[in-house]
Amino acid sequence: MNLTNKNELISILSGFDFRFSKSLGQNFLIDKNVLTDIITKSGIDLNTNVLEIGPGAGTLTRELCAAAKKVVAVEIDSALVPVLNYVMSEFDNFTLINSDILKVNMRGLINDKFGGEKFSVVANLPYYITTPIIMNLFENDYNIRTLTLMVQKEVAERITARPGTKNYGALTVGVGFYADSEIICQAPPHCFVPQPSVSSVVIKLSKYEKPPYEINDKEVFFKIVKSVFSQRRKTLVNSLSGSPFINCDKNNVIKALEKMNLDTKIRGEKLNINELVNFSNIITSNV
Ligand code: SAM
Repeated sequence: MNLTNKNELISILSGFDFRFSKSLGQNFLIDKNVLTDIITKSGIDLNTNVLEIGPGAGTLTRELCAAAKKVVAVEIDSALVPVLNYVMSEFDNFTLINSDILKVNMRGLINDKFGGEKFSVVANLPYYITTPIIMNLFENDYNIRTLTLMVQKEVAERITARPGTKNYGALTVGVGFYADSEIICQAPPHCFVPQPSVSSVVIKLSKYEKPPYEINDKEVFFKIVKSVFSQRRKTLVNSLSGSPFINCDKNNVIKALEKMNLDTKIRGEKLNINELVNFSNIITSNV
């Protein structure tokens, strides 16, 4: 079976009367090079447990099962269940869960399927759930090693952006707080069937074993980040003293910036993650 062969894939899907759903982001990967890059560069080996989100017709899932210890895949579309049962029939290390990843009891699933063991996430994600999935997986402190994700090119640019650039924002800081990111490969529209209107990129996020940032209060930190980037043209002082997310005294903000030897007129978007963490720690120690 070769699911990167477009005709073979379409023929299998037609055999099950499958119709592509645009609203579920169903663009299935058919590019062998991208597939090989995902498997070889994600760091997956025969000791790795994998959680795959959105297996689709199973093109990537088959390669994952051949390379990993165990693959648990969560697919929302029940029309794909018979397709996956068919294409995955030769693999006994595969489990399919027909559910919405946003509604699944993630901790229960992880405990049940992986016990206390570490796992890696691999997903060619529907774009509409990219950010909630990434942040949910990091914020809940699951035993994750890496996330290898196919994301919209713009999302990859935002995740890997440098401070002060237009793409640097809450997503850059949110992801960078938890993980190191690395671009694995590009996946232009012709790598999929049907072809999407946008270009994609495969990105690998390696979760820090021990977070490099020592934060006093994570909740305050993320409120500061939200305030800074929802009013990014304002100075840090103004974005925080007028923030609907956090109650910050203007004088405390000025004092914190002076303590850090930063210009009191600086915009928050100029601060790197380390500086945002230090700033947040000074603010919380003053409260
Ligand atoms: N992994 C396959 C591939 O690479 O060819 C399919 C990728 S396709 C871009 C996205 C897949 O995610 C589809 O199969 C879609 O049905 C599934 N999906 C969409 N929303 C989902 C959700 N909320 N939970 C689980 N799966 C979802």
